[in-house]
Amino acid sequence: MPKKESQHIENNPAFKGLAVNDGIEQPDSVNQDSVKKFLKKKRKLLSPEEYVDGILKGDITLLSRAVTLVESSNPKHQEVAQEIILKCLPHSGKSVRLGITGVPGVGKSTFIESLGSYITSVGHKLAVLAIDPSSERTKGSILGDKTRMEELSGNKDAYIRPSPSSGSLGGVARKTRETIILCEAAGFDTIFIETVGVGQSETAVHSMTDFFLLLMLAGAGDELQGIKRGIMEMADAIAINKADGANKEKAEMARVQYANALHLFPMKDSNWEPKVLTCSAAQHTGIKEIWQLIVEYQELAKKNGYFAKNRNKQAYYWMYETINEKLKNEFYQSPEIKSILPEFEGKVLNDEISSFTAAGKLLEIFEKSKKAGSDKE
Ligand code: GDP
Repeated sequence: MPKKESQHIENNPAFKGLAVNDGIEQPDSVNQDSVKKFLKKKRKLLSPEEYVDGILKGDITLLSRAVTLVESSNPKHQEVAQEIILKCLPHSGKSVRLGITGVPGVGKSTFIESLGSYITSVGHKLAVLAIDPSSERTKGSILGDKTRMEELSGNKDAYIRPSPSSGSLGGVARKTRETIILCEAAGFDTIFIETVGVGQSETAVHSMTDFFLLLMLAGAGDELQGIKRGIMEMADAIAINKADGANKEKAEMARVQYANALHLFPMKDSNWEPKVLTCSAAQHTGIKEIWQLIVEYQELAKKNGYFAKNRNKQAYYWMYETINEKLKNEFYQSPEIKSILPEFEGKVLNDEISSFTAAGKLLEIFEKSKKAGSDKE
């Protein structure tokens, strides 16, 4: 029955629009201690041993949580992450690490789906990681997020982790390298690391992989594809993708051209002669052959000792990279440097002081601030 006008609260002379009325009584379930405890527990850091136990058992949830710690800049998280990595190290290394690059649109994610589905169907366990330099510069990602590779996302033998998004390229690359260790300890025997073939990120990917695959298209010049000579030189194989339909013939012609071009590069330390193949990631053709090539490469490089030697060299390289990255971060994050840097920049720009003197003075200020900090402790 409709309310009579006089009964409506707004028609009551005592009603004031700004009065605070009684709120609704909260159902007790929301504030129950058990719920609070549950929420708190979810966020609680586990001990390094608990993460490691989970990782070694192949627990993907714990692996993901550990990777999140690796990616975190919180010092407490980093401390736990480093312990996890140390404990996982003896269980890592038994994999093949494949770097995959190519300009946006070449078909990287389609290719990874196709090759990934194939290798998991023959018993491999695959982790797909990425180094996406765009996300750090523009906060937009070229490689996209988890919505790509839908088929692989639902594959129980595949683990897909998007690129860590914050920090410098060196920082992002270090996190990815550490993530490789955790994935290997979790039983993934094949690691793909995807990047975009437009910048320096492929050097980083090359320095943490065993085999470097460059995806290209037929009918577009190297310049058009933004592929620098140095990147082609790094490649252990080039795959001309989209070799299907009317494009098939052009792809074959491009294959011959690139094969000739690769002959001009000096012999690789691995003694491996880089190959050029054609494939269609969309139609799943030529994919098995690419995997076969990677298998052949491993056989050769393991036999001649290059595989292990290269991994050692990479470990050595990453030690220095990590030192450089940490020192650089410490320097630029120091409050003293942060506050004085613009002044020095201005002086250098106005020719009031040379770059070298400015750098020397800034480093001196940094040293002093560190010393003052440690004296206080
Ligand atoms: P990415 O940016 O390098 O990851 O490229 P994508 O995998 O997103 O592919 C870009 C576009 O090319 C999409 O529309 C794909 O469907 C298409 N594509 C990828 N691989 C092939 C292929 O082998 N043949 C054809 N015809 N199209 C492809």
